[in-house]
Amino acid sequence: MMRFCEKDGMLLTVEKGKKSLVCRKCGRHYTTKGEKLKISESMHDTKKNVVVMGKDEGVAELPVTKIMCPECENMEAYWWMQQTRSADEPPTLFYKCKKCGYSWRSYG
Ligand SMILES: [Zn+2]
Ligand SMILES: [Zn+2]
Repeated sequence: MMRFCEKDGMLLTVEKGKKSLVCRKCGRHYTTKGEKLKISESMHDTKKNVVVMGKDEGVAELPVTKIMCPECENMEAYWWMQQTRSADEPPTLFYKCKKCGYSWRSYG
């Protein structure tokens, strides 16, 4: 059966040795499972530079300071330093509200 790319309508060709179809134009991959075509998402789009702060994990170890949360006006927030961009610049101060979990960075 012939399949066409959802994006540009190009005829999909079968990849050698694989049970998947590929669009020669945009490079999208499709797999044939049952009736529907499923797009296998490319993995290189995963976010890399996200600040990893678990929702609850590790937060208990952070120090707490008295500062007002811009979101809920709670007066206690966790804080931590983080080096951003180049080592020449001073590390940025981050806060995370104890109450609502909102996090923000200190400017200046
Ligand atoms: Zn395509
Ligand atoms: Zn808050």
